[in-house]
Amino acid sequence: MPSRPSMRLHCSHREHMEALEAHLAQMEREEGVKYWQEPGETTSSAEQKCHYFWHYPGVEACFKGWYGSSEPDYRPYETLSLPALRYLVTRNRISPGVAHASTNKTRNFADWKRHGINVRYMPGRRAASGEWYERDTETTLEIKMTRVMCQFLREMLARSTLPSSPLDRASSSVPGPTASSEPASGHPSTLPPPPPIIVLAVGKNLLPDARLFSAICDAVRRGLFVKVWGWRAGLYEKYLDLQSSHSDQMKIYYFDDYAPYLVHCGSAACNLGVR
Ligand SMILES: [Zn+2]
Repeated sequence: MPSRPSMRLHCSHREHMEALEAHLAQMEREEGVKYWQEPGETTSSAEQKCHYFWHYPGVEACFKGWYGSSEPDYRPYETLSLPALRYLVTRNRISPGVAHASTNKTRNFADWKRHGINVRYMPGRRAASGEWYERDTETTLEIKMTRVMCQFLREMLARSTLPSSPLDRASSSVPGPTASSEPASGHPSTLPPPPPIIVLAVGKNLLPDARLFSAICDAVRRGLFVKVWGWRAGLYEKYLDLQSSHSDQMKIYYFDDYAPYLVHCGSAACNLGVR
């Protein structure tokens, strides 16, 4: 397991990313640490969509804690490598329109945007108590996650109302639907779609009502697969309880295990993601 010092030892961003990829391959080869594919997951993103949700302020806050916020070289807008963070969580399995990030920090997200991640900037607000109000960045992700669940349930419902296939009807003693109930297209029913995968990257649980956690609970209860990325020092403990009761559907991964690779390598390209 690598530990600090970080990837700053590498002289180019290309070497930085190659070192991360080699480390992940080594973990899979020697320690059996798989990412794709777990039980219930298909290998093709065309068959099974994977939706990503990044709560950037939380992830960055925990990274800062791991790195040492008192370190003189810590730079909030640079030290966490966005290309490395993106690759670690997606492994380049990403399709358009399925990835959402919220942030209240203004930094250059060019790499994420180029890879199809919808980055929503939501400036922080002060609550009446004087505390900084972080709810917006979590709520926007919760809404988008709920839409994914609703879409999946709609697809399931639509397929369940289609007539069974001719083969099924012939072998069944139960009369099939009448011709008048056939859809105009006459399509036979198909297998239900594989449940989508939700990938959530979080830091500290900022809100007492834990809305992101509630959305993850709903996803698991409705049969979706979930991967949660968090930090050991900040992960809301209820994620662990949920994982232990639904270990076939939910996995937890820790950024801590890869954190040295998340440190900016010192190359200007590291912020832009250009190798
Ligand atoms: Zn780099």
